[in-house]
Amino acid sequence: MATVEYQRIGKSFGAFTIMRDISFKIADQDFVVLLGPSGCGKTTLLRMTAGLESVSEGDLLIDGNRVNTLHPRDRNIAMVFQNYALYPTMKVYDNISFSLEVAKIPPAEIKRRVEWAAETLNLTPYLDRYPKELSGGQRQRVAMGRAMVREAAVFLFDEPLSNLDAKLRAHMRTEIRQLHNRLKTTTVYVTHDQIEAMTMADKIVVMRAGKIEQIGSPDEVYDRPASKYVADFIGASAINFLPGTVVVSDGMPAVDTATGRVVLETTTTARPGEKVVIGLRPTDVVVDGAGALSAKSVLVERLGHDAQLFCDGADGRFTVSVDKTARFAEGSEVRFSIPPSKVHVFNAETEARL
Ligand code: ATP
Repeated sequence: MATVEYQRIGKSFGAFTIMRDISFKIADQDFVVLLGPSGCGKTTLLRMTAGLESVSEGDLLIDGNRVNTLHPRDRNIAMVFQNYALYPTMKVYDNISFSLEVAKIPPAEIKRRVEWAAETLNLTPYLDRYPKELSGGQRQRVAMGRAMVREAAVFLFDEPLSNLDAKLRAHMRTEIRQLHNRLKTTTVYVTHDQIEAMTMADKIVVMRAGKIEQIGSPDEVYDRPASKYVADFIGASAINFLPGTVVVSDGMPAVDTATGRVVLETTTTARPGEKVVIGLRPTDVVVDGAGALSAKSVLVERLGHDAQLFCDGADGRFTVSVDKTARFAEGSEVRFSIPPSKVHVFNAETEARL
């Protein structure tokens, strides 16, 4: 087990600097997810951790030791790749045992570890098969078995579920997290899928264009997104943004938008006159006859357990989660409101949380 620490890490490819000043520490046994859109640098940060990519600036510490120039094999890490990187001509058993054979581990110990990994991952019936004779989920488990037997101090996962269909992805998500609950190996997991991040992480590191936008628990980044970018990225259904100006309404801070007036918490740091953008999650909005916000109903999309109402307001398209039995005639006026504690306020220019 180990800690991983990034101290002012930077990365350049030739003349292009793609990452600057990345600093954070991963505690022993933590499951940390690096989350961000394609090109934000998360894979490069993971590959630097593995030693597959050089560190251009700063220090990378594993268990307190600087490893910047240490060979991947000497870092005590195990990595699981997106494409699994299994050897097609080797049976499952040999795929899992290969790195141990190379490391000249005694045969009895190799057998013990492979059988333990196979048992833990429900792979025992498949040890004699070739990768092509396995399903995607089983291949994924073999790749994890290979990482497990090395008894590494840190696991690194690079989008390990992106080649699986939606149902299997959800299943493997819980398997990987359960495995972590059992083994407690410090883990760094890269994904662009916010659901994976929300469901698996102890801590999420939200990245944007080679920088860290926010670090926090899933609840922290969902409930208190540090910026408009994070609010937009996190959340199963897309958040609504409305531009507006801060006013004082009956002694309370509020924001006037074209869609209506939204009251804020008294603790807000937004100042009267300030130009802001407010973020309202579809699940936090309440449809009620008396609400100060107003838009016209366009369509209800039924999702089985509930439904989404799409409206057109003065600020454009607006989404509200509604009961699946609710009926809205197309073009009818819908009035809604939101509790002040659920309103996310961002400065219009900096997009930072207020
Ligand atoms: P994805 O999910 O698409 O892999 P990512 O967030 O993991 O995206 P990286 O793969 O880390 O992003 O890439 C970050 C940036 O660095 C991108 O702009 C990419 O084009 C650039 N980059 C990555 N590898 C190289 C390389 N070997 N040479 C030059 N530029 C690179």
